[in-house]
Amino acid sequence: MKNIAVIGAGTMGNGIAHVFAQNGYQVNLIDISQVSLDRGMATIGKNLDRMVVKEKISARAKETTLNNINTFISVAKGVAGIDLVVEAATENLELKLKIFKELDELCADKTILATNTSSISITQIAAVTSRPEKVIGMHFMNPVPIMKLVEIIRGYSTSDETTKIIMTLSKALGKTPTEVNDYPGFVANRILMPMINEAIETLFTGVAGVQEIDTVMKLGMAHPMGPLQLADFIGLDVCLSILNVMHDGFKNPKYAPCPLLVNMVMAEKLGIKSGEGFYDYSQSRKAETVAKQFS
Ligand code: NAD
Repeated sequence: MKNIAVIGAGTMGNGIAHVFAQNGYQVNLIDISQVSLDRGMATIGKNLDRMVVKEKISARAKETTLNNINTFISVAKGVAGIDLVVEAATENLELKLKIFKELDELCADKTILATNTSSISITQIAAVTSRPEKVIGMHFMNPVPIMKLVEIIRGYSTSDETTKIIMTLSKALGKTPTEVNDYPGFVANRILMPMINEAIETLFTGVAGVQEIDTVMKLGMAHPMGPLQLADFIGLDVCLSILNVMHDGFKNPKYAPCPLLVNMVMAEKLGIKSGEGFYDYSQSRKAETVAKQFS
């Protein structure tokens, strides 16, 4: 497996392209937006520069990595002769189903189709293709060049062979792949999102303030970031949408999103990306700035 296509050049797509290219794979990075492609390549360049300054890679390795990536607006051209497609386009069910239908028509029979979705069913995505045994979840974590985990999600029909190939490939990227089955939230978000939701509920019911909740979890549980800070980092809209997927999927009230989370998303207080969430980012993107008062 040498030729990889990555669909989507946003936060995750450019990180995924970076990691494959740095490990010697030829990468076709595909996006519908030229602006996203340019921004994605600029981000990869900046992240590589940082690695050169820290002496983690040589200047030459940086050039080789960049030369391993070609950008495409056309999906048909971008997936020609490709062994594996990793889809990291916007999280939207209809969009993903449309992309996978198209990929199934365009790609050779041998091509494996992977998705980086955080919450959409792999089985549902696989069902719109004629090769459900070759469809799999490859859930990278943000920021991709730094985070070691890849959650490998087997859909209902994903074959042992496809799983084995993707596990081996993920190890070749220097990652630690971990195999899980396809149920709402997979494993990472099934455990993380209820914790974040409970932290919001704890705030909502006045048990403690933002900084107190995050301090307890940081210093008491040795988490690098408190759950409210992490929610701001992920995006409150993303947290809400994943909780809704789990709530719908399991029909269990324990996944019901806290009303404060719902309100904050409606008020467009989405965390770092909107400049305000549980913390105020108007002066700095670093969350130790100002915790908002919620009582
Ligand atoms: P993003 O909004 O940063 O980037 C999405 C990109 O997809 C944009 O550049 C957009 O132009 C492009 N796009 C939209 N439609 C397209 C199409 N038809 N063809 C090609 N490109 C298209 O999103 P993101 O945060 O990188 O998330 C991408 C995927 O990764 C989602 O499925 C998300 O759930 C998942 N994910 C995100 C994170 C995270 O922390 N951001 C973590 C793990 C998984």
